[in-house]
Amino acid sequence: DGNVTISNLEKFYGEGAERTKAIEDLSFEIDGGEFVSVVGPSGCGKSTLLYLIAGFLDASTGTISVDGTPIDGPGTDRGVVFQDYALFPWRTVFENVTYGLEEGGVPKDERQATAQRYIDMVDLDGFEDKYPKELSGGMKQRVALARTLAYEPKILLMDEPFGALDQPLRESLQDQLIDIWGDLEKTVVFITHDVEEAVYLSERVMIMTRHPGTKKMVTEVDLDRS
Ligand code: ADP
Ligand code: ADP
Repeated sequence: DGNVTISNLEKFYGEGAERTKAIEDLSFEIDGGEFVSVVGPSGCGKSTLLYLIAGFLDASTGTISVDGTPIDGPGTDRGVVFQDYALFPWRTVFENVTYGLEEGGVPKDERQATAQRYIDMVDLDGFEDKYPKELSGGMKQRVALARTLAYEPKILLMDEPFGALDQPLRESLQDQLIDIWGDLEKTVVFITHDVEEAVYLSERVMIMTRHPGTKKMVTEVDLDRS
């Protein structure tokens, strides 16, 4: 479960002379439960790739399949964590985490139990009634992670989630993410421009370049985690 197959993917932005090729002939596979990082310089197409997998953007050509079925827009099988947290400022921690479950029509009791479980998982028990503005950056990102985990996507898509945090905080969140990934056995696709972070976290690191006309995914590095 949570297998992603990308076949001959291309993505252009704009038209005519303004046309930018963000993704060019990209094919690769991610196994269910695998932790993959995608690294590369700014502008190489990392975010575009992530938002294509999320279904927020449509491919110009090619397909993305999850467990053999081509995606058609966003779905609850894929959850996204953004660099800027994207929390609802008018909702408490608890209400932020229950949001996706309300949308999904989960009954109230179950919603509350599930939300509490993920709040505990990211070590935010006791902060349920705080508003985002009362929290540090690290705590906000943990709320965002809990909110995404709460609707139990098979695939977790993370776009530079720790990019706005200072180094000690980054390291503590990296360790927390490794623990959560170990417990939940979800597929993780982690975008970063920080090679060290990618190597620390992942089982496999994929490297993209920015040079036009070159193959986007240049190298894959498998890291032995056993
Ligand atoms: P990265 O995440 O690696 O920094 P992006 O996926 O954001 O790269 O961008 C890849 C390329 O596509 C860049 O050349 C960028 O300028 C371009 N691009 C990204 N989004 C848009 C957009 N909405 N309209 C036009 N060009 C875009
Ligand atoms: P981390 O996100 O790794 O826990 P932080 O620097 O965000 O690191 O916070 C460290 C701890 O300090 C938190 O776990 C929390 O107990 C406490 N803390 C941080 N910000 C606040 C706040 N606004 N209100 C109450 N406690 C806080």
